[in-house]
Amino acid sequence: MEMDRRTFARLLASAAALGGVSALMGCQGREAKPEAEVPLPTAGGAARKPVSTARYTGPETWVRSVPGVGPYVSLTFDDGPHPVNTPRLLDLLAREGVLATFFLIGKNVEAYPAVAQRIVAEGHEVGNHTWSHPDLMLLSDERVAGEVEKCQTVIREVTGRTGTLFRPPYGSFSRTRGAWLKGTYGLTTVMWSVDPQDWRLPGASVVAQRMLGAVHQGAILLAHDIHAPTIEAMRTVVPGLKSRGYECLTTSGLLARGAMS
Ligand SMILES: [Zn+2]
Repeated sequence: MEMDRRTFARLLASAAALGGVSALMGCQGREAKPEAEVPLPTAGGAARKPVSTARYTGPETWVRSVPGVGPYVSLTFDDGPHPVNTPRLLDLLAREGVLATFFLIGKNVEAYPAVAQRIVAEGHEVGNHTWSHPDLMLLSDERVAGEVEKCQTVIREVTGRTGTLFRPPYGSFSRTRGAWLKGTYGLTTVMWSVDPQDWRLPGASVVAQRMLGAVHQGAILLAHDIHAPTIEAMRTVVPGLKSRGYECLTTSGLLARGAMS
């Protein structure tokens, strides 16, 4: 089912009222047409949710959280797409009507293009997590550029989107390189403020407890959609965030809202 034009117009109007229309419209000269009106998930009585096309194009080069933004947070998922666990997470997010940001590994986008396309079709944001997930601080500037460019290219070719956010594997990066990345590719480096260490596989309930225990206004929460227990944890985390009064936005959505506050 497609979002009808009235709904889309209303979304644009509300974004404009919030001062966020430029982000929502994908503010690049030759992309005047918004990347929107893609099919929405409706299977199984899924919650109807807006398709976000927000792309952060502001001045920040390096962010960990968005202080002072109010009761908004951003769930971020690294290392996918995964052929089984990412679709399970997408089902859950669709049921809950919640958007997230996925920092994709280029190789995995190439391996599972349909999953990457589904992420975008359902309104989530995609970001760059390099082509092959190396520790970038061990690489030359030239190889870092190759990792970033190859990931940008495959994401664009597979999903039609040019993301504006970057997350370094293992969080291993420097502010100097972050500034260079912004200047060269327009990519903002996104770290995180809540890390449940889910990759250590402590169990779904521990992951959920850590995330809900540490969440705060403007938080950027880190998790990995390649691990089954993390998806299980989200069954608690997403409703838990809602019951605590938080609204989940894409990271670009959170940054855009932060710029308004
Ligand atoms: Zn990673």
